[in-house]
Amino acid sequence: MPHQFPRRTLALIPLIMLAACAQAPAESLPAPTPASAVAPLAEPTPSFAQWRQTLREEALTSGIDAALFDRVMADISPDPAVLKADSSQPEFTRPVWEYLDGAVSGNRIGRGRVLLAQHHLMLQRIEQQYGVDAQILVAIWGLESNFGNNIGSHSVIRSLTTLAFEGRRQDFWRTQLLAALQILQQGDISAESMIGSWAGAMGQTQFMPTTYNQHAVDFDGDGRRDLWNSSSDALASAAHYLQASGWQTGQPWGFEVRLPDHFDYSLADPQERRSLAEWAALGVRPLVPTGAAASARAELALPAGHRGPAFLLLDNFRSILRYNNSTSYALAIGLLSDNLMRPTEVSGNWPRDEQQLGRSERIELQQLLTLNGFDPGPADGIIGANTRKAIRALQLQLNWPADGYPTRQLLLKLRQR
Ligand code: CA
Repeated sequence: MPHQFPRRTLALIPLIMLAACAQAPAESLPAPTPASAVAPLAEPTPSFAQWRQTLREEALTSGIDAALFDRVMADISPDPAVLKADSSQPEFTRPVWEYLDGAVSGNRIGRGRVLLAQHHLMLQRIEQQYGVDAQILVAIWGLESNFGNNIGSHSVIRSLTTLAFEGRRQDFWRTQLLAALQILQQGDISAESMIGSWAGAMGQTQFMPTTYNQHAVDFDGDGRRDLWNSSSDALASAAHYLQASGWQTGQPWGFEVRLPDHFDYSLADPQERRSLAEWAALGVRPLVPTGAAASARAELALPAGHRGPAFLLLDNFRSILRYNNSTSYALAIGLLSDNLMRPTEVSGNWPRDEQQLGRSERIELQQLLTLNGFDPGPADGIIGANTRKAIRALQLQLNWPADGYPTRQLLLKLRQR
């Protein structure tokens, strides 16, 4: 799901999986943490009725019609299943290669090719208007909702009400709920038909309500922005959102590369952006024809560490991350879109024998790094930029390949110290 702010700033760690969604929070992703989302310190908890009254005042102040609010919110009660989904912190997430196996499956590629041909003219018009390649849009469609076949079945108003009332990051959800009410007021959809994921991601491209308000478009010209029932509205809206996220027409998202022997793996870091010409001078070789300008800038990514495949990621990869801030997701979009055009296998071998660290082990790794004088940031089980940097510093000390990737071997080593 697309959202409003860069959903998370977690860059290249593959550990992250998620149900696609333009910007809905998924536990495995670092949550957006605008200052406003910090939970207030213990205040007496209002009853649901009191809470709804305060929300009503705020909604009316922001221009929501009283009759609409009262009708839509009349029978709404918090949904325990949504709360449970919000609070679950899974111990294990799928490794990137397993995620890609499912996301870029033969079935999805086959279905995507059929739809690409079927909707050729509509996609061409979208491409002309927004400058985003058809195959990227079809890939997003495929991952977000299995091409419109899986748009979720939760009442969006009820889910968002639950999360805004008692979820984590209540301010974030409250903003989304108010945006959902605005969408109803605009007449794009009825409250009964406004269904989505448990986290309020809506329609064939799984837009969060704030993203919807900003970026959804009525492309089929029926006067309504209908991301549930109109594929052309949904795909054009995704294109509009990517365009607003800095999409560069004609540039690839990235491509797989081969690294030279004795490569300095510490260059595989989002901070180390270089032009393709500079990467070439370092011996980094594309494994596929790229069609990218030598001056285009890219970062080098090793989604499964130095033993796995390597990719150069261009600016358009960042635009996909704006849609859904998971490296695995963005990689899946890129690889799926390539495969919609022509068969494109990843050449490097994923380290499928490697046992992924669970959440509690990642936390232990961070704690041990701190104990040993490194600075991985808070021990939250999320391998972000600071943790990668700390891992890299330890790897350099050990004279191991400094790819910043958390392995079981490294955890064992730390336990022995
Ligand atoms: Ca429409």
